[in-house]
Amino acid sequence: MSATIPAQFTGQAALKKQDPKNFDLHETKYTPRAFTEEDVIIKIDACGVCGTDLHVMTCGWGEHDQFPAITGHEIVGHVVRAGKNSTHAVGDRVGVGAQGASCGECVNCKNHEEPYCIKGWVGTYQGPTGDAVQPYTQGGYADYYQGPGHFAVKIPDGIPSEVAAPLLCAGVTVYAPLSYYGAKAGKKVGIIGIGGLGHLGVQFAKALGAEVYAISHSDRKRADAATLGATGFINTHDGAEKVLAEHAASFDMILSTSDQDDMPLNDLYLPLLKARGQFISVGLPNDGLPRMGWSLLGKTVTGSLIGSPKEIEDMFKLAVESNIRPWIETRPMSEATQTVNDMYAGKAKFRYVLVN
Ligand SMILES: [Zn+2]
Ligand SMILES: [Zn+2]
Repeated sequence: MSATIPAQFTGQAALKKQDPKNFDLHETKYTPRAFTEEDVIIKIDACGVCGTDLHVMTCGWGEHDQFPAITGHEIVGHVVRAGKNSTHAVGDRVGVGAQGASCGECVNCKNHEEPYCIKGWVGTYQGPTGDAVQPYTQGGYADYYQGPGHFAVKIPDGIPSEVAAPLLCAGVTVYAPLSYYGAKAGKKVGIIGIGGLGHLGVQFAKALGAEVYAISHSDRKRADAATLGATGFINTHDGAEKVLAEHAASFDMILSTSDQDDMPLNDLYLPLLKARGQFISVGLPNDGLPRMGWSLLGKTVTGSLIGSPKEIEDMFKLAVESNIRPWIETRPMSEATQTVNDMYAGKAKFRYVLVN
């Protein structure tokens, strides 16, 4: 079997820090780090395009020199080589999300909270490998991916690979906090931002039984929100006074997928919550959340980072049961450059998926 696996993998790489107005990726070969018995090698069928990919290629979260950079962490494909300790078999269809490895030993890893590993968080791309030949991980805009089998989750039959892909990062990022913090029947849940994450947030909150409101800054997504299953729609452009007149202190939970600076947390989002209500951010503005004062009293403000392999499995179960489907547009892997430029331009509705 391994005879068919090339010694070098081929990906669509950013060769240097990218200009966001003109992403330019190039087909590039790299040698993966040494294979271990914990690893799997996946022949990639599909890989979603996530906002994080663009941030990393443009050094949006800080300068780095890990180029060439092959991004992509919504990877679905078939196992073509399985280490003895990987729990997977050749032929299994699996997916890998944003986290490629963790220490496996810290308190959080032991509690199935791998996203909060305190000793050895490794991104699916750009993460340290400790290997001299390939010192950092490379992602899924490629033909193959290699990583620990623990972070490769079985994809249920019945979900095509390109549809499953966006669930691995965008999907679990919203599913995990909605599920953990108790979105369910009898709860009124708001989802801020109807894009790659938010359009899945509406679907998952509804599938969990909640009454869902889409919260957006214009009416542009109103019809989509209804199609996705939202009961109501709040246009924040109407102004806090008007929105609060109707909805003040009525929400149990608000999940924000927005990374907008100066978000109206004190004037609008916290006053929308009932006492003991929760505001959960899964996107983080560059400047962080606004300072909070009196508005915080009686409210919980928290953040959430992707989801563990266990949560990804649970999410897929619910996605199958409730027929949750990301809205996607597929593009050939070779068109990664155009796809990333279109993503940056905000043309995705709501997720691009690169397919081999
Ligand atoms: Zn992502
Ligand atoms: Zn750990």
